[in-house]
Amino acid sequence: MEELLRRSEKLTTVGQLAAGVAHEIRNPLTTLRGFLQLQLETGKLNSRHISIMLSELDRINLIVGEFLILAKPQVTRFEEKDVRLVLDDVISLLDSQAHLCDIEFVTTYTEESCRISCEDNQLKQVFINILKNAIEAMPEGGHITIDIERKGNQSVAIAITDQGIGIPEDIIPKLGDPFFTGKESGTGLGIMVSQRIIQSHQGTMDINSRVNEGTVVTITLPLLTEESQAHIEVSASREHSNV
Ligand code: ADP
Ligand code: MG
Repeated sequence: MEELLRRSEKLTTVGQLAAGVAHEIRNPLTTLRGFLQLQLETGKLNSRHISIMLSELDRINLIVGEFLILAKPQVTRFEEKDVRLVLDDVISLLDSQAHLCDIEFVTTYTEESCRISCEDNQLKQVFINILKNAIEAMPEGGHITIDIERKGNQSVAIAITDQGIGIPEDIIPKLGDPFFTGKESGTGLGIMVSQRIIQSHQGTMDINSRVNEGTVVTITLPLLTEESQAHIEVSASREHSNV
């Protein structure tokens, strides 16, 4: 019964998402159609029209791309990884973009290892989404700090703090609603996708913000303990021997 309930809830979410995607894509499609019609009737499509068409196509691509991360029936492979390495990878990926915006990443990591079980690419996507939001919130540049701290032996907390425009209090509950965006060319999918991925990692995501001061996004993930490690090894060897 619970399973059925869970599944039907999931279906409605997927249905809602699909309706949202259809809606979001219809606007740029209408623009594209209009310009093509114009060309057919007058032959007067100019380079300004074409660059609008290109950016509309890019927008469709962006929405579909972000949506696919959720909808694609991908094989998820959880692997053991030190979360500090995951963040290092993401930071080097975004470093040059940050530099262009006069932004510097400052990291303070615990010296102890922070081994977690994760789907590497999905978790990277989460940190990319959050760091991109931080960058986009800081048009004047500044620092983005990334703190990694162990909470005993149970979990690890990753806090990403920006010095950006902040989020008004009444907006906070809307974060994570699909297609909710405060940006002219945002998709409003980044936080929702991130929340889903963190949930699937048995973690939590918390957002605190002050207008004109900045935002802190804190992600907590369960650490691999010796016991859970042994458990993973046992199930892997079972899988192997096909028992
Ligand atoms: P998008 O970035 O495409 O708009 P997101 O789901 O990533 O979609 O974010 C939704 C909205 O939340 C953003 O448009 C922005 O208004 C707000 N937001 C998210 N992160 C931050 C941040 N670090 N600082 C200020 N506003 C933010
Ligand atoms: Mg975003």
